Amino acid sequence: MTSLPILVLNSGSSSIKFSIYDASGPTPRKLLDGAADGIGNENGSFRIRNADGCPLLNASRPIRNRAIAFEMISEALHSESFPVPMAIGHRTVCGSPTVCHNQLLTPQLIAEIERYAELAPLHTPIGVYIMRESLRLFPGVPNFAVLDSWFHRTIPEVVAHMPIEEQYAAQGVRRIGYHGISCESILMQLEPNIPERLIVAHLGNGASISAIRRGECVDTSMGLSPTGGIISGTRTGDLDPGVVLYILRQIVKKEKDAHLAADYLDAAVNRNAGLLGLSGVSNDMRRLRMAIQNGHPRARLAVDAFNWTIVKWIGSFFVELGGLDMLVFTGGIGENCTETRAEICERLGSIGVTLDT
Ligand code: ADP
Repeated sequence: MTSLPILVLNSGSSSIKFSIYDASGPTPRKLLDGAADGIGNENGSFRIRNADGCPLLNASRPIRNRAIAFEMISEALHSESFPVPMAIGHRTVCGSPTVCHNQLLTPQLIAEIERYAELAPLHTPIGVYIMRESLRLFPGVPNFAVLDSWFHRTIPEVVAHMPIEEQYAAQGVRRIGYHGISCESILMQLEPNIPERLIVAHLGNGASISAIRRGECVDTSMGLSPTGGIISGTRTGDLDPGVVLYILRQIVKKEKDAHLAADYLDAAVNRNAGLLGLSGVSNDMRRLRMAIQNGHPRARLAVDAFNWTIVKWIGSFFVELGGLDMLVFTGGIGENCTETRAEICERLGSIGVTLDT
C-alpha cells in the first residue's frame, strides 16, 4: 500500500506540537511526533520521537518565540530522514462566526481567521503565521483548518447564549468553546465504548472542562474566548466583570490611547494572570511543583486555586449530566502530573470519584 503521510500541526499557548501519520490504512498510523516546548521560558526544549517513543532528536535550549520554534520544526521536517507530507492539518483554535467547519486552507480563509484574532490572542496570531509559512514552505500540499470549536456546536442555546445586549449577540458573541479536537480524539479512542456521561478535563497551559452526553458536547467551560472558564497558565478564567472594569479604569488613568489600553487589559487577563499571576513564579506546573516543594506559599495558593476551579466545574457538570460514568484527564498537566490528578480526585470523593493509585 502506498503511504499517505499527513503532517499535523498544533500550536498551543506555550508549545508547537507536530506529528506525522501514515493515513493510507483504515486507521492512521503514527510515524513520529515532536514538540518545541516551553516557548518564551528559559527551559525550552525541542524533540522528535519515532512511533515507539524513542528519541530521534532531543535538545534543551531557550526558544525565544514561536516564529523561531516553527523555523526549527520546518528545518527538521525538510531533512531527508522524514517523509514529505501529502496533506497538512492545522489545529485551529478559533475560526470566526462564519468559519465553524473544518476546511481547506486558502489565503482568503487565513485572512478571515486573522480578522477574528482578538478572540484568541494567544493562539490565532501564531496559528495564522504558521498557516502562511506552511503554504509557503510546502507548496502544492493541501493544508486544512481543523477547528477546536466545531465539537462544541451541539451545546444548547441556553448554554451558548450569553446574558448580553442583543447587538453583541448578533455579532457572534456567544459560548464557542475550545479544546474540541482533544475531546474528539478522546471519543475516537473510547470507541465503541463511549460512556453515556463523560467529563473531559483538558489541563494544559490552556485548560478547560467539557461535559459530554452520548458523545455530544452539552457544556464547556471556555466561552467566546479561551480566557473564560477555569484558571489557566496565564489566563484568569471566569472573573467578576467588575474586576475587568476596575482594572480597565486603573489602566486608562495612565494610558489614554484606547488600543494600547486594550492591549494592557489583554495582558492583565490573558498573559500575566492565572497560575503565573497567582504564584508570581511561573505558568509552568513543573516549576510550580518544585516551588511548592521549596515551601513557596504563593505557588501553593496558585495550584490550590487551579484545583478548586476545576472541582467546581466538574461538580456543576456532574449535576448537569445527572451523574458521571467517566472522568478523563488530558493535556500536559492532566496526562503527566500525578499530584494534580490526586488532589482533584480527592476533592471529588463526594460525587463518588476514587483514585486507584
Ligand atoms: P499547551 O496548552 O501549550 O499545549 P500542554 O498541554 O503542553 O500546553 O501542557 C503544558 C503544561 O503541562 C505545563 O504547565 C507543564 O508544566 C505541564 N507538564 C508537562 N509535563 C509535566 C509533568 N511531567 N509534570 C507536571 N506537569 C507537566
